[in-house]
Amino acid sequence: MNFHVTQEFQLLLSFLTFCASTYLGAVVYLNNRTNWTNRLFGLLAFVIDIYITVNYLSLHPPLPSVENQLFWIRLVMCITSFIGPILILLVHTFPHEKITLAWRYRIPLFALMSVSAIFSLTPLVFSALEFPNGEPVPVPGAGIPVFALDFVGLFLLSFFVLIYKYRKASDQERAQHKFLLFGVLASFSLMALSTVIFVVVLHSSATVFLGPIVPVILMASIAYAIVKYQLFNIKIIATQVSIVTIWIILFSKIFANITLTEFTVDIFVFILVVLFGIVLNHSVHREIREREEVTRLAKSLEKANLRLQELDQQKTEFLSIASHQLRTPLSILKGYIELIADGAYGKPSKRLLGTLSDMDENNERLIKLVDEFLNISRIEQGRTKFSFVKKDMALLIKDVIKELEERAKDKGLQIEMLFPGKKAIISMDDDKIRHVLFNFIDNSIKYSDQGTITVGVKKEEEGVAVRVTDAGIGFNKTDEVNFFQKFYRGENVKTTNVNGTGLGLYVCRKFIEAHGGKVWATSMGLGRGSEFGFWIPNVRPVMAKEQ
Ligand code: ADP
Repeated sequence: MNFHVTQEFQLLLSFLTFCASTYLGAVVYLNNRTNWTNRLFGLLAFVIDIYITVNYLSLHPPLPSVENQLFWIRLVMCITSFIGPILILLVHTFPHEKITLAWRYRIPLFALMSVSAIFSLTPLVFSALEFPNGEPVPVPGAGIPVFALDFVGLFLLSFFVLIYKYRKASDQERAQHKFLLFGVLASFSLMALSTVIFVVVLHSSATVFLGPIVPVILMASIAYAIVKYQLFNIKIIATQVSIVTIWIILFSKIFANITLTEFTVDIFVFILVVLFGIVLNHSVHREIREREEVTRLAKSLEKANLRLQELDQQKTEFLSIASHQLRTPLSILKGYIELIADGAYGKPSKRLLGTLSDMDENNERLIKLVDEFLNISRIEQGRTKFSFVKKDMALLIKDVIKELEERAKDKGLQIEMLFPGKKAIISMDDDKIRHVLFNFIDNSIKYSDQGTITVGVKKEEEGVAVRVTDAGIGFNKTDEVNFFQKFYRGENVKTTNVNGTGLGLYVCRKFIEAHGGKVWATSMGLGRGSEFGFWIPNVRPVMAKEQ
């Protein structure tokens, strides 16, 4: 079994892995210098850099003698002795700020590490070098179990610690632990393959040059897990690693040229690629920062929204309780006013009757207000009950007009019904539609001082449309979009002394939407009358279910 790999290739591989390890270590460490997860990672990167260098020198010792090579190989073992303990500390601490391993474990760990490092430098770990196939193969000494425990043992232990932590981790942490697990497992398997199987079993050191790749896999996956946890983006690292690698390759290529033309062309290409790399890196940075900002904003918006929803619900509940408490005394009051006016407590004087009528009017206003509040809290809590039956819209309108005719007459107004057909039978909750009709016509009376109020019914677009038009105060375009919002009172009523709450049309809209219909308001402008209308479909769409 013999792979032939040139020394240049080994040098390039060591150099690239050295750069990658240094880069990852620096990025993670500088990203959060006070965090022990990052510090341990930085330390691991540093040890791995030394390992890569010494590993290369062990394959190509500066003074090529057997003693010298043995010295470098022993040094590799010495450096490797630090990897296992740092790894277990890192894996245990990840992703916390402080080292999590208790002192009672840390001390034996350091002891094992020190003994293994010292043993590695002596014949206890590798006693001599043999050259069975012309390649150097170290002869294991009596102290090899200490080294095996320190390196292989702790590597395996890291793996088990990770599995344990993975099973206990929250969903978010799990994703990160997965990368750690992958890194430890992949690098360990590769290491086992390249060293244990080849060196120990097959007695060949042909794959030792692969050594530097192993820690880089480990480093890359740990780095990914850390930066992902700390919201630092891997895309930046990936881009930068690729850019720097291309730079290095192109830069080394410049010196491989023989002719001046090739040399010049390569320098030119190199400069272009450097510039391009800088621009690319910059744009990736910007894109990621922007995305992070958007995510952050979205999160805080989501929080604020949740809080608002909570407050809104509390308000609705308060409204509901308060209204229920108010509704009963108001009804009782209404009953007493009627009894007194009817003479149940003796014949009332004319003056008393006048006062009673004022009381009744104000009480009615309050009842209407409380009813509106109750409607709103029911709508918002999704407790409004709807029962749909087929009814004639024209009949319903006639009823409501009859109810309000007197009030209109008092203001010198007329109400007319405009209906080309005979019947407009449609499925609806007649109480709710009656409420809407009452509100529309009542508003027309409230906001008009002259003319006729027309209520039109028309079968159109697979449904029935109702329009209430008046010659009243009208409104401007800017106002009309808000009329159906909660608590909105138009600019047009600011100068009038008509009382109101801005709740009526909101409730109407909700009722009509529950029928799968729509509402609208139009006007030619201030002082030029208005039209308030609604349309409900013959067949209710599925989404417009009970609200
Ligand atoms: P309220 O009448 O208690 O203010 P509504 O929700 O019934 O509340 O109406 C909301 C607003 O719509 C009113 O304040 C008014 O500005 C406008 N409005 C409603 N009906 C008419 C109408 N017939 N003519 C002009 N403006 C109207």
